[in-house]
Amino acid sequence: MDPQAAGRVAEDYVTLIWKASEWPHGQATTTGLADRLGVTPSTVSANLKKLTRDGLITYRPYGPIRLTEAGEALAVTVVRRHRLIETYLVNCLGLRWDQVHHEADLLEHAVSDLVLARMDEALGHPERDPHGDPIPQPDGTVPPTEAAPLTALPPGKSARVMRVSDRHPEVLRYLSTLNITVGTPITVLEHLPAAGIVRITTPTGTADISSTAAHDIRAEILPPSADPT
Ligand SMILES: [Zn+2]
Repeated sequence: MDPQAAGRVAEDYVTLIWKASEWPHGQATTTGLADRLGVTPSTVSANLKKLTRDGLITYRPYGPIRLTEAGEALAVTVVRRHRLIETYLVNCLGLRWDQVHHEADLLEHAVSDLVLARMDEALGHPERDPHGDPIPQPDGTVPPTEAAPLTALPPGKSARVMRVSDRHPEVLRYLSTLNITVGTPITVLEHLPAAGIVRITTPTGTADISSTAAHDIRAEILPPSADPT
């Protein structure tokens, strides 16, 4: 593999490992990485061994996959690039929120520090991307997010959408048709696990969404004072 391609692979792996740990109890696994990258678990194992040799992760077969300090620093840099690029593509170039993840995946490996700094400036140094994901700051700190998936939200509590996973563009497109985006007030009416749906209300009405979509949406419960009911 040429060094440039090897660099991309390293960046993709450390980023996915970092993102897995962004949520409570999140942990990257060989099968999870294989699924996300569309490769076999044995390819993942071989690459994890290489990343271990390169000092980016600590890993033993069947053990936990952890980033080293160097791996963490690389991941935070790439995630910052990815999320700033997504924000730039939406805010400055008018792309939709379901279009930008794939574009950012390509550009995150190529963008220079100079161009990235200018994008950051043009955007006014944002802390969140169009999906509500926190953008790591230049010093490596990550703006905190307290939000739970809709699947875990108790029925009847007023909440607000804080983040929507950018992993499933078709879910993002469907949510757009329901006028659901980051900041939308939302209430879970009922969990219907047997039907695989969650019934919600939004300012534009009641809707049934799939458990997958509900899992992709993270919301914070609003304090009772902000609760209109
Ligand atoms: Zn993305």
